[in-house]
Amino acid sequence: MDLFEYQGKQYFARFDIPVSAGGVADTVDEAVAQAELAGYPVVVKAQVQVGGRGKAGGIKLADNADEVRTHAGNILGMDIKGHVVKRLWVEHASDIAKEYYASFTLDRAAKLHLGMLSAQGGVEIEQVAEENPEAIARVHIDPVDGLTEEAARTWVAEADLDPEATEGAVDILLKLYRCYVEGDADLAEINPLILTPEGKVHALDAKVTLDDNAAFRHPEWDEFRGLEVRDARETLAAEKGLQYVGLDGEVGIIANGAGLAMSTCDVVNQVGGAPANFLDIGGGASAEVMANALEVINSDEKVKAIFINIFGGITRGEEVANGIVQALDRVDIKAPIVIRLDGTNAEQGREILQPHLSDRLRSKPTMLEAAREAVELAR
Ligand code: GDP
Ligand code: MN
Repeated sequence: MDLFEYQGKQYFARFDIPVSAGGVADTVDEAVAQAELAGYPVVVKAQVQVGGRGKAGGIKLADNADEVRTHAGNILGMDIKGHVVKRLWVEHASDIAKEYYASFTLDRAAKLHLGMLSAQGGVEIEQVAEENPEAIARVHIDPVDGLTEEAARTWVAEADLDPEATEGAVDILLKLYRCYVEGDADLAEINPLILTPEGKVHALDAKVTLDDNAAFRHPEWDEFRGLEVRDARETLAAEKGLQYVGLDGEVGIIANGAGLAMSTCDVVNQVGGAPANFLDIGGGASAEVMANALEVINSDEKVKAIFINIFGGITRGEEVANGIVQALDRVDIKAPIVIRLDGTNAEQGREILQPHLSDRLRSKPTMLEAAREAVELAR
């Protein structure tokens, strides 16, 4: 789950990472009220889950209520790279001496946490990464050892931060690491991490991605839900407990097992089609699960054909076939279906499907043939 900046800052605050005082506003009047609370000057910030808000005009400084009105009015409803601004964050403006960059994420190849720190943070960090990568100090952190204060100090020195920022930066990096590990984030990024003229270091922006697999041990994450920018199909699938990822094509895919679901997407691509989704119904493939899966795919207007690809393992073919037949009774499917059923007791399964076969429900013996048929039907 990606957090908005204001949620990321709330998350940071739990780990004692210094952020500016502020509040959210959904209207111009609320923005003025928040500005009065935060104290002028303030900065009015578009809350959208996309970078580069500053450059797009979604971040504005305001010295008084009139300026807040103007900026809030302009920013609310603004389209930033396809994201429409519905909410603002208004905080007390900081004086900036320097803008740094700090983040933690997982380096899957190295199987270690990766910390990145740069003295050249701010809105040009992508350019720095591209043209001047040595300006970003990288450290790999063994998850067992964690980040020690000594290591953080060496890292800060390597990144060449200003000497007066050292203590504050070390403190924030240790807290940000805790936030990332104990807070179960996949990404915790501060850009810019600022040094003020008074020598204070603090987070001016927050980009946090929480690891959904850890949601079971974070009931407090519930407060972040509800505002996620989520594909309507994915929301429906999540409600039904399905492993679903929405894609842009026209062939709806249902497979059992994530590996098979991915191969199915590949094969559909290979024969010239495009998958509308990735959907793994797991091992069971009961009527209930199959009906849920078909319902989600049915809700997708772009789907022109459905490819059900089941390889029976522990799940037997006749159970799957019965599941499909019962599901078809329950859901009125708009697109034609091609089924490939193989594996344990596939013969019995196909016999069960036989009397139900028609132009709208076809069976093919192999994955490749079924994919071709589905792609053909989708045209
Ligand atoms: P982003 O463009 O989406 O990354 O949004 P940020 O929150 O990082 O803000 C972009 C830029 O706006 C920052 O790099 C700062 O230069 C500027 N900015 C943001 N907040 C303040 C503030 O409180 N005071 C000042 N002077 N500038 C700010
Ligand atoms: Mn930023």
